[in-house]
Amino acid sequence: MGEATREESTSIAQRLAAVAELYVRRRGALADCQWWCADDCDAVAAEVSAVQNISHARAVGQVQFACNLWHRLPRLARVFVSGVIDFRLVATIVNRTDNVDDTVMPALDEAIAGHCVKWMKLSGPKLKDRVDQWVARFDPAGVRVPPAVKDNRHLTIEAGVPGMADVSGRVTAAVGAALDQALDALAATVCANDPRTHAQRRADAGAALARREATLDCQCGLEDCPAGAQRDSAAAAAAAVIHVLAEQSTVEGRSNAPGYLPGFGILPAESVRELAASAKLKPVTVPVGPPDPGYRPSVLTREFVEWRDLTCRWPGCDRPVAKCEVDHTVPYPAGFTHASDLKHYCGIHWVHRPLSKYDREEPPLTRHTLELVRPAFFEFQP
Ligand SMILES: [Zn+2]
Ligand SMILES: [Zn+2]
Repeated sequence: MGEATREESTSIAQRLAAVAELYVRRRGALADCQWWCADDCDAVAAEVSAVQNISHARAVGQVQFACNLWHRLPRLARVFVSGVIDFRLVATIVNRTDNVDDTVMPALDEAIAGHCVKWMKLSGPKLKDRVDQWVARFDPAGVRVPPAVKDNRHLTIEAGVPGMADVSGRVTAAVGAALDQALDALAATVCANDPRTHAQRRADAGAALARREATLDCQCGLEDCPAGAQRDSAAAAAAAVIHVLAEQSTVEGRSNAPGYLPGFGILPAESVRELAASAKLKPVTVPVGPPDPGYRPSVLTREFVEWRDLTCRWPGCDRPVAKCEVDHTVPYPAGFTHASDLKHYCGIHWVHRPLSKYDREEPPLTRHTLELVRPAFFEFQP
């Protein structure tokens, strides 16, 4: 299985290398033919589509992709040829480095080629975040939200199939996170006997949101619905609070290192400062002292481990820490109640724990940031 996987990667890399090479060879010859209606890419794609028996549009895409990979990210391409990384990883890197300035590409390529083998086990969203972090490190402008994208924000509600409406739009990540959390919180205010699915309750929560109500009406039909008793506490929980992780220097305007909004990924430095202006700032303390006494971690340790892990630590798992449990890697009391022996696991991966060889693997992406600069996370209440 492993051998076939590596051979598959090598084959794809070699095919793309041939396409990129053909482009370079033809470009010289085609320079004399500028009166042609087809440009270089179209002309090469015509040959590629004939050889590979694919449509012209797909061939054009392949020529552009192959050139980006082999000419902008040659070191990554060589790792791809060796077979240790797959097409999904390469495609994500190529697509997310598209905006990066040509002058920083060689350095970025070298850094990515050196690290990407470790990214194979990352889930799609985590992989995207990881690539964005490296892009931001070399070219902060490469992950900036283009003004045109931000200016285009909108929220549209229009008639759908009879009796239904379609909601769509594009909002800032902070608004999206707040809305997402508010709908989840409202959907959770019914009792366990409610017949609707979570998705349906989220959709119905829109009405409660519109009426500024803190709870969703339960549809269990029971006289003594247990949700009724919990209405008051639910009202308090329904206020959406989003947390953003950012370096102090970004908040103070001394650097443009991006922040991180769990579930939504990289948050450009300008957006971080915009939110921080009206947010409650809290430092994340990196525990440096002796381990906590006892089995349960202290509030400080727990907060630090939450911001270090962000999600379940099982390779490829995206479940946020809010839905995970903190676990001792080496069981207490042989293992200490200290950040180095604590990690988050979700319900699914909890059961794999005794046999896991991943327990001692490196902490995820925030560690580096946390060690370099004392970061702050802040709460933002829209
Ligand atoms: Zn009920
Ligand atoms: Zn998990």
